[in-house]
Amino acid sequence: MTARIIDAHDVAFFDLDGVIYLGPVAVPGAVDGIARIRATGARVMYVTNNAARSADAVAQHLRDLGFEAGPDDLITSAQVAVELLAESVPEGSLLLVTGTQNLVDLAHAAGFRTTTNADDLPDAVLQGYNPLIPWPLLDEAAIAVQRGATWYATNDDLNRPTDRGLVPGLGAQLAVVGSTVRQQPVVFGKPHAPMLDYAVTHTGAQRPIFVGDRIDTDIMGANRAGMPSLLVFTGAHGKRDLLEAAAGDRPSFIGADLSALLAPPRAAAQQGHSWHCGDAVAELVEGVASVQGQLSTHSGQLDALWALANLVWATDADATDALARLDQLH
Ligand SMILES: [Mg+2]
Repeated sequence: MTARIIDAHDVAFFDLDGVIYLGPVAVPGAVDGIARIRATGARVMYVTNNAARSADAVAQHLRDLGFEAGPDDLITSAQVAVELLAESVPEGSLLLVTGTQNLVDLAHAAGFRTTTNADDLPDAVLQGYNPLIPWPLLDEAAIAVQRGATWYATNDDLNRPTDRGLVPGLGAQLAVVGSTVRQQPVVFGKPHAPMLDYAVTHTGAQRPIFVGDRIDTDIMGANRAGMPSLLVFTGAHGKRDLLEAAAGDRPSFIGADLSALLAPPRAAAQQGHSWHCGDAVAELVEGVASVQGQLSTHSGQLDALWALANLVWATDADATDALARLDQLH
């Protein structure tokens, strides 16, 4: 029997939104998939850029959805930011925090003092996603940075998916300050290295894998951390994002959802000018990419996509028509 992807890994890190849940609901099949992955003996660890809610609150949300989860099964960008700041900024330093109460509480627990007033001359500014941020707090952050405070951010996601569409994320709040101070903050969350480096150190993972739904945070972050990755199609990114991913930003594996960890990897092999994956073949026909295979099934379309992606990455071929045939994939 061919080995499953999970068999080669001791810890599986999972992004939350778009992999485990979609806002208030679990991704279909995710509860059962996570339970089966745990049953293989691999450790399951949830890793989220969202700094607004505490690990306790996120763990409760996961349990409400049917997942087995405690605060020790989670790493948030707020935890990473405060723990790493505590290693580089002296204890008792004054932080101007623009995030939610969760971030303020974590800063206090780590021995920092906090303020919301630049006139208190904070040593550092720490921004975290705050959906109720008052505009004057952005003014204070900008003034503090101009006066020499070191500028940090938990993450820099430009937007957040919601059930009503995209809304501005912390990256948008950072852009408001950044356009004023003409600087960039130090960022901890994915795709920046500190988050996944922390995750590896924190868990002692020897052979980790990262499962995510976004190229620009999850897959890039895993690649920067030197970790293999599985891109799933239950969230933000789809077939077009995969084909457009630059060299260095591409996943090791693709799957319909996280249960792909429990199956052998999709392998694509080149034969002459064509790429094969399962029963699927992608090839160049007069300079244009074409696909054939069991396109009536979702799994067959994923095979065809993986063959097509490998062809396009190798040749830069036009794949517009081939992608249109993969109509079960978003
Ligand atoms: Mg996500």
